[in-house]
Amino acid sequence: MNLIEFARLMPKAELHVHLEGSIRPLTVLELARRNGIALPVQDEAGLQEFYRFRDFDHFVNTYFTITGCLRTPEDYRLIAYEFGAGNARQNIRYAEVTFTIETNMRLTGLSWQAILAGLNAGREQARREFGVDWRWVFDIVRDLPKTQDKVLDIALAAREQGVVALGLGGSEAEYPPNLFVAVFERARAAGMPRVPHAGETAGPESIRDAITLLCADRIGHGVRCIEDPALMDLLRERQIPLEICPTSNVRLGVYPDYAAHPLRRLWDAGLVVTVNSDDPPMFGTDLNAEYRALVEHFGFSAEELERISLNGVRASLLPQAEKDRLEAEFRAEFTRLEDAL
Ligand SMILES: [Zn+2]
Repeated sequence: MNLIEFARLMPKAELHVHLEGSIRPLTVLELARRNGIALPVQDEAGLQEFYRFRDFDHFVNTYFTITGCLRTPEDYRLIAYEFGAGNARQNIRYAEVTFTIETNMRLTGLSWQAILAGLNAGREQARREFGVDWRWVFDIVRDLPKTQDKVLDIALAAREQGVVALGLGGSEAEYPPNLFVAVFERARAAGMPRVPHAGETAGPESIRDAITLLCADRIGHGVRCIEDPALMDLLRERQIPLEICPTSNVRLGVYPDYAAHPLRRLWDAGLVVTVNSDDPPMFGTDLNAEYRALVEHFGFSAEELERISLNGVRASLLPQAEKDRLEAEFRAEFTRLEDAL
């Protein structure tokens, strides 16, 4: 077995992936047909073309169009179940999955309870059939600052149903962290972990503010800390994990190619790096392809791949006992796979 095969088979955890950005292309087309929604494309080849993004704004508009294909609780069950099936195929045993609840409520007219019941029915089915598991992150859309308190209220009310953190996505440069201080403080006071995107389409200042103003437990992306050595020191000292999504960064033009991507330098500097797929079909990737890129473009060894995978477990928001159990499972499987290397 070569290293790429090893990466494909090894158990993995993923901390930065959006459910609406993970819908299978064929399912997007089927949902649009079923719900009578006119998409600008009719087939998989058309969708591939539709997923070629000019810039971040174009990506957000496309994302909104895809989300608009969802209408019923059954649609949510289906996409959650298929997400679980995809994770099982890649041996992703645990994930923290971002879902933009308020946008979905607005587009469907459904209550959060109805949407989450659909999502959790799909999750339950995937758990039973495939043994994979995940929790939800409900995120605030920066471009809709008026919705921020509502999103946190829902996230807090839905804690018993698998919501483990508050996220923050959307246009980072136009809507900086200082607009969200009060709601993130309220989350902190309520014991709700915070995982904002920062340092993707805005620079190091955005990451610094996410840490100091929003008390971020992890940083979504965070790659642009490479521009500020003092910020890198801070991230290392506090061991704040970065949810790095290499292919997403290349497809959205944060970096021109893998060679220019700072992942290896951040890793070598001792930062807590996790590797993730963000919106896999929209970026022509999945987590296995990201791990393959670690081998082919970033020169990672088997031992480094194992450490990256375990970082996903340790930086998760699971209770410590569950992290320990998963880590032991992963290590046992690594040992078995190493024998075949
Ligand atoms: Zn993201």
